[in-house]
Amino acid sequence: MDWAHGSDRIIADASTDPVHGRVRWKPVKSIWIGSMTLVALFAGPLLFSWDAFAVFIVGCAITLCAGHSVGMHRRLIHNSFECPLRLEYLMVYSGVLVGMAGPFGLMHQHDLRDWAQRQPLCHDFLKHGRGFWRDAWWQLHCDLELDRAPRFMPEPRIANDAVYRWMERTWMWQQLPIALVLFAFGGWSWVVWGVAARVSVCVTGHWLIGYFAHNEGPMRWRVRGAGVQGHDVPIAALLSMGESWHNNHHAYPGSARIGLNHDQPDPGWWFILALERLGLASNIQTPATMPERPALVRVSNDDGGCPACRMVARWFGARPVHG
Ligand SMILES: [Zn+2]
Ligand SMILES: [Zn+2]
Repeated sequence: MDWAHGSDRIIADASTDPVHGRVRWKPVKSIWIGSMTLVALFAGPLLFSWDAFAVFIVGCAITLCAGHSVGMHRRLIHNSFECPLRLEYLMVYSGVLVGMAGPFGLMHQHDLRDWAQRQPLCHDFLKHGRGFWRDAWWQLHCDLELDRAPRFMPEPRIANDAVYRWMERTWMWQQLPIALVLFAFGGWSWVVWGVAARVSVCVTGHWLIGYFAHNEGPMRWRVRGAGVQGHDVPIAALLSMGESWHNNHHAYPGSARIGLNHDQPDPGWWFILALERLGLASNIQTPATMPERPALVRVSNDDGGCPACRMVARWFGARPVHG
């Protein structure tokens, strides 16, 4: 695994092309997110209760932090730390519950973008390069069909894993047991808030952060030769579990820590530190453990971090990782 590129699963050669292709409406994807959002918008306010809202918040926090950010992204996709296989399954399963895709679907989507954004040019779909509403329609309801797409080959450890194959086949159905449990404890109100509203908000929020993280916001690093650069979205740091320090992620894709500075709060990183303390995470990668990346250029000292965090950190005498 090449840390600098995040992934070797995209097999590209002279015949592949990240630029030309067609964006097509995907009925299943579109109806999935469309119906979750409609149920959330119409039934959510009618069935609101504070306990249902608490179920929504706890559900979002677990699936986004342990699941999407740490399990799926930092562990499965980037191998940025090691953990016992059963814990990995549990975290990836929580990531499946976000309701975005199965493990292979998400990995493919991530790696294709990662590869395309490092090329000098890529299709607007892959760089969130159109206007806000067009991008919303594209990312939430359509897919890109490249004319000459690269092959996608996950490593055998993951490709041949029966548990991950099962999660991939059934990822949409995995909301069903959750819905049944929620119904048993809290009726329709818990189902609407704990499944429909949660899936709708998390999937839409994921797109929203992806849109801004490739269009505007502070930057500390520039990756030489890459057609698309990442930006930080400081306001979304806590909600995104630290994923929105996206400029850092383009700079150090293989780092388990994404908020690299003391004023860049990163809940996913805190979760990995807690796992380490429990003896459940090891071989944790950060910029300090990784080789120099020659293509990386420091462009600014302003990391765009949160001023309040910077102040608190200064009180406690914290030192930045960089600079
Ligand atoms: Zn990116
Ligand atoms: Zn990544």
